[in-house]
Amino acid sequence: MALSKAMNAKLNEQITNEFYASQLYLAIACMFDDLSLKMLAKLYRKQTEEEREHALKILDYILSVGGKVKLQAIAEPTAKFANVQAAIGAALEHELKVTDQIHALVALAEKDKDYATQSFLRWFVDEQVEEVESQRYLLDVAKMAGDRLLQLEAAVSHLLK
Ligand code: MG
Repeated sequence: MALSKAMNAKLNEQITNEFYASQLYLAIACMFDDLSLKMLAKLYRKQTEEEREHALKILDYILSVGGKVKLQAIAEPTAKFANVQAAIGAALEHELKVTDQIHALVALAEKDKDYATQSFLRWFVDEQVEEVESQRYLLDVAKMAGDRLLQLEAAVSHLLK
């Protein structure tokens, strides 16, 4: 079954949203690198790649069902944060937003009776649970560490293994 016009447009939008997340994480990684927080920088740099993969996964799906890919401009990411906690907080906030976007896509796929897209989106629903959990964990640890940033670095280093 072909994608509905609305679903095709929304999936194209989601490609942009995932690329934006990639850009946001790259900006956060640069800030951490600036502060010589190499572990955190590495973690967010890795996340940058993951978000790009999400975008490409959606792009490939559109192509595989005969839809039309339309790449759009990616907004400039916020690059200045008051502190480490604020940067991680922005990442968490963004993941919560992406979760809402994915859920809206599922709702549209259900309305369209588009079973293929519903099945495709299931992976993203599960992925968002993990993404939100990991950002929430990072924020909790960052709050506990406070100004003791070396302790925070040590605490996150196990996430890179
Ligand atoms: Mg994503």
